[in-house]
Amino acid sequence: MENRTDTARTALVTGGASGIGLACVTQLAQQGVRVAMNHLEEDAQGPEQVARLRAQGLDVIAAPGNVSIPGGAERMVEAAIAALGGLDYLVNNAGISGTRDPIPASALEQIDEDLWMALLNTNLIGVFRCAKAAAPALRASGGAIVNTASTAGMGLQGSSTPYAASKSGVVSVTRSLARGLAPDVRVNAVAPGQVATPWTANWPQARKQAALDKMLIKRHVQAEDVAQTIVYLLTGAPMITGQTIVIDGGMTVS
Ligand code: NAD
Repeated sequence: MENRTDTARTALVTGGASGIGLACVTQLAQQGVRVAMNHLEEDAQGPEQVARLRAQGLDVIAAPGNVSIPGGAERMVEAAIAALGGLDYLVNNAGISGTRDPIPASALEQIDEDLWMALLNTNLIGVFRCAKAAAPALRASGGAIVNTASTAGMGLQGSSTPYAASKSGVVSVTRSLARGLAPDVRVNAVAPGQVATPWTANWPQARKQAALDKMLIKRHVQAEDVAQTIVYLLTGAPMITGQTIVIDGGMTVS
């Protein structure tokens, strides 16, 4: 850590203290990237995970902040860039479902405008806030962004209407940002199906089995599977931009 050279690549991962974000932080740091792990201030997992990864010799620092707060998200990004000394990669991964239990697309009566606003604010506008704040540093480095969308946002899988809309927005924003930041910065998205993370840990077994039954590859998608694709899009895909890659073990083509 202390021996890193000034040319070390740098990354910021939002929602980095658990699940897909944590797998991204870990894989990037294992490749020698200096990583700022964003986490909610109130989330004790953030400092704990940073300490655990640093104890393994990985160059990870904490970037506390909430992507749903106008101004707060930008301040978090700017502080992370200052601490890192620049930025090569941004992973816009923070997201919420808004409810403890998954809401099926048909359950309109469970959906109110507060849920709409919360989901759009975090899942969609949060992506834009962080990308906008990071754009000058990413342009300077010739960097890359990956956003976490969802198969629900591609019309491929049922989900609550506002969650699906927020993630459709992420697919669309990915294309807009790719155009707006070209040719300096590549911008892509991943669209996971059902992934084994804290997000889905308490889902009914029947829902998990239903996904598995539809999948062509007969195991649950792991956070590490998604992170591998994110790291590839960031570091190894010089001619890919504006794209959304589905990672669902073939669930939505079966
Ligand atoms: P997770 O709950 O482990 O991770 C989400 C992280 O985002 C948490 O650490 C949470 O604290 C953080 N977060 C939430 N709101 C935030 C905010 N306002 N500011 C900063 N951080 C915030 O779940 P996960 O499965 O790893 O989810 C990561 C992303 O993957 C999400 O965007 C989610 O929509 C998407 N996704 C997940 C699945 C799945 O099945 N797990 C499928 C498709 C897409």
